[in-house]
Amino acid sequence: MSKDTAQQTGDDVMFDVVVVGGGIVGLSFANALAGADFSVAVIERDEIKAISDQPDCRVSAINRSALKHFQQAGVLGSPLSQRVCAFEKMFVWDETGAGQIEFDSAELGVPELGVIVENNLLQQMLRDSLQSADNITYMCPQTITEIDYQISDDEQEVSSRLTLSSGKTVAAKLLVGADGVNSKVRDVALIQRAKQSYQQQGLVCNVTTSESHQNTAWQCFMPTGPLAFLPLYNGDCSIVWSLDEATAQQQMALDDEAFKFALAEASEFKLGEILQLGQRFLFPLSHGHVSEYVKPGLALIGDAAHNIHPLAGQGANLGIADAFALAEVIIAARKANRQWASLHTLKKYQRQRKGANQLMETSMTGFKELFGNKSAALSEIRNAGLSLVDHIPALKYKIIEQALG
Ligand SMILES: Cc1cc2nc3c(=O)[nH]c(=O)nc-3n(C[C@H](O)[C@H](O)[C@H](O)COP(=O)(O)OP(=O)(O)OC[C@H]3O[C@@H](n4cnc5c(N)ncnc54)[C@H](O)[C@@H]3O)c2cc1C
Repeated sequence: MSKDTAQQTGDDVMFDVVVVGGGIVGLSFANALAGADFSVAVIERDEIKAISDQPDCRVSAINRSALKHFQQAGVLGSPLSQRVCAFEKMFVWDETGAGQIEFDSAELGVPELGVIVENNLLQQMLRDSLQSADNITYMCPQTITEIDYQISDDEQEVSSRLTLSSGKTVAAKLLVGADGVNSKVRDVALIQRAKQSYQQQGLVCNVTTSESHQNTAWQCFMPTGPLAFLPLYNGDCSIVWSLDEATAQQQMALDDEAFKFALAEASEFKLGEILQLGQRFLFPLSHGHVSEYVKPGLALIGDAAHNIHPLAGQGANLGIADAFALAEVIIAARKANRQWASLHTLKKYQRQRKGANQLMETSMTGFKELFGNKSAALSEIRNAGLSLVDHIPALKYKIIEQALG
């Protein structure tokens, strides 16, 4: 990695593309551009969290569409991929009734519905696979202290100049914000973002259960919020329990034994008892979407552009789809000798991704409202609906196709 395909102009090092943020999405974008005719810098503030013997508690369900991109980019050939856990089934049920639905990869004719992977492990694999890419420079740990993004009145002239914590300055023809929910790139570009808190926290931790997870992702919808048990490679599960703020604090305050019981009870003992418990963490849950993904010479991808409720495990998947779509658009424009960083070209990326991301955000909010409603009548309809869908394969697989990307 870090081959000087970039050019020195005055005090600045000039890259075709500067990506702020080397999280899952920023690194996916860099992989999509690996070997392409662009000089690319990825600037990341934090070192990737070290991989320990035990699985990390921050994991993501990665869908088949994202996996296909990773396979094509050579990301999954790493020995680390042994810690990726394929899940073949998904079992969803409603705590307030008998409604349930099961998705099975065998019925779909595919080997798995997706994989569960630790976030730091995926980041490390994405970073490792850039080692052989001559056109990518990875700068970490580096914080951006200033971004100077200027557009002329006629929008023909654009300049982006970034000052790093090292004192170095870099300039870009295309500035890409992959810097997460609190994106600085978004702020300097004056892009508006509609956001809303769910007034919920996601309680996350790893657990050992007395029954096998059977390579299945388990999800229970409760009026208080969804609870997911995601299978891990070592037989444990990673749980994500969405709870209102007060209940989340109560669950955090319980001692380990009391929490183990509360968790097993909430999951209706589907995986038996909770034998061991890792450290518990809380993450605030919100959703937000920007008014525009692109400006001349600038694009937002991943959580910098949109973030959603984790109940269907889709946030990172949408960001990975953004990353590969944007790369495809600029590679095609450059091959055709078009202005690859112009607003006209970048809008093609926005057209491809904004509608799909918006649909997912609306669906997740709708799901949360539907399952969060305590009305007995609605509960009956909901449970009947779940079981009905379970018996209509065409409809059931339309739903799962969306989730698989
Ligand atoms: C509890 C929970 C469970 C989830 N489960 C799933 C799941 O199962 N499946 C799924 O698809 N999604 C899931 N998500 C969503 C997913 O985690 C996010 O959508 C995804 O991580 C976003 O990736 P990103 O790279 O866009 O942003 P981030 O992960 O936020 O990365 C942004 C990066 O930018 C860096 N950065 C920020 N500012 C600067 C700066 N000024 N200079 C340099 N670097 C900077 C940060 O250090 C960071 O590394 C979950 C979310 C939560 C909260």
